[in-house]
Amino acid sequence: MAHTDEPSDRRPGVARRSLLQAAGAAALVLSPAGAATAATRPSRRDPVPDGAFALGVASGDPLADRVVIWTRLAPDPLRLDGTGGMPPAAVPVRWEVAEDERFGRTVRRGVALARAEDAHSVHVDVAGLRPGRVYFYRFRAGDQVSPTGRTRTAPAPGTLPASWSVAIASCQRFTDGYYTAYEAMLRDEPDLVLHLGDYFYEKDNGPGPVGRQHLPLGECFSLADYRVRIAQVRTDPHLRAIHAAAPFAVTFDDHEVSGNYAGDIPETGAGAGASPEEFRARKALAYKSYWEHMPLRAAQRPRGPEILMYRRLRWGRLATVNLLDTRQYRSDQVADVESPEAYDPERTMLGSAQERWLVGDLLTSRTRWNVLAQQVPFFETPRVGTPGDKWDGYRAARGRLLAAMARRPHAGHVVLSGDIHSNRAADLKADFDAPSSPTVGVEFTGTSITSSGGVVGDEPVTAVYDPDPAVPHMRFRGTGRGYVTFAVTPESWRADYRIVGTVLRPTSSASTVATLTTSHERPGLRHG
Ligand code: FE
Ligand code: CA
Repeated sequence: MAHTDEPSDRRPGVARRSLLQAAGAAALVLSPAGAATAATRPSRRDPVPDGAFALGVASGDPLADRVVIWTRLAPDPLRLDGTGGMPPAAVPVRWEVAEDERFGRTVRRGVALARAEDAHSVHVDVAGLRPGRVYFYRFRAGDQVSPTGRTRTAPAPGTLPASWSVAIASCQRFTDGYYTAYEAMLRDEPDLVLHLGDYFYEKDNGPGPVGRQHLPLGECFSLADYRVRIAQVRTDPHLRAIHAAAPFAVTFDDHEVSGNYAGDIPETGAGAGASPEEFRARKALAYKSYWEHMPLRAAQRPRGPEILMYRRLRWGRLATVNLLDTRQYRSDQVADVESPEAYDPERTMLGSAQERWLVGDLLTSRTRWNVLAQQVPFFETPRVGTPGDKWDGYRAARGRLLAAMARRPHAGHVVLSGDIHSNRAADLKADFDAPSSPTVGVEFTGTSITSSGGVVGDEPVTAVYDPDPAVPHMRFRGTGRGYVTFAVTPESWRADYRIVGTVLRPTSSASTVATLTTSHERPGLRHG
């Protein structure tokens, strides 16, 4: 990380110190690094406007020896020009990682440059850490100090941890409600959070039922539009809190660009008339804004309209997490999942390179559990002549993955998904057309954090429906807003479906509406 001199472009500061900055100054006094002088330095010497850390901090993609820490300087994150209220100069941001919350035992520190062309975001891939450890981190810009983040490295390769706590989240349209699901998730203290897509939506439907701030933007098309919309979701304090409390591993679905897109093809009507060339230009802006706001490594930095989002994390010998990209490489959707086209083996969901990369590891991985963390439901769902945005529209491609799983029936195959704004759990059959065929794995589909919620008549949002006898492999379905949390051991994988009482108010209780477990030895879901 290159060290740089203080920028000469010093702007007059604001005399009144914000609460955030005052809190930061208090943290500085506690630190051992001679920070009392920094805390008392006149703010007019500060090149960064007050409240620069309004979007908080995040960490992500933990490995055994490293983790990415992130922040973005954005004192005015909803400014429609997409600058976040920052002057154009680059700003050196000091960062430090410590073993303790008071930063008495700092183990790594450095300086990263926050550049205007990256929306003044900072991504530091902090290496040289110890496996299976909790760390604390923070950033400084001028005399401002960020909130403190907490993260965790993965266990050492070859070790078998006794337990692992991981949660999934998806679909959080800002105007559909408050992020009370994250308020509840925070209390669960997950080791890792997997975000499976629709982190924000490229358009909203007005202020929504809870009166959230409705931006004077239509659908996102420019870089500034995307930056403002994704920054807006981080104005929710519960989302900032969970990012500061646990590392995330994120993958996008469609709405981070445009609803139901496939490769270079936008959904008919949305982005109407866009040619593949025009849509690729739009994707480049969307992916750039996504990378700017997420704790992702340099390998995930987009190159124009392409971004490498599929990647793999391992949690010792306990689990492999394959984060998939089901958007960039897929064949276009079929109009009807029952059409012969849906069975066409030429059609792909992952693209050939990603599919080879995945199948190769499914056949050779030595971890107890092998996870597909991805976007859309994988298991066969009732056939209602619907368009095929899910895996039902890519049956041959799904069959190839099921065949790989069937070759290793004791490899703990777990598929995670979101997208449909309701809860599901299903056994994965080697052949869904043959109900007596073996169960080769299980799937947990998590409901939305807010999307499709916030409707007054939707309360209480704890309704649970019995399984559909027409779909015997589906073991649970339910409504409501929330998330799923997993307690994983070498022998068993337990899912707790957590539903919040409301998204209509900023805080809520939460309850577990279903618990399902599968065993490593015998794949298949049972309640309890
Ligand atoms: Fe969604
Ligand atoms: Ca979606």
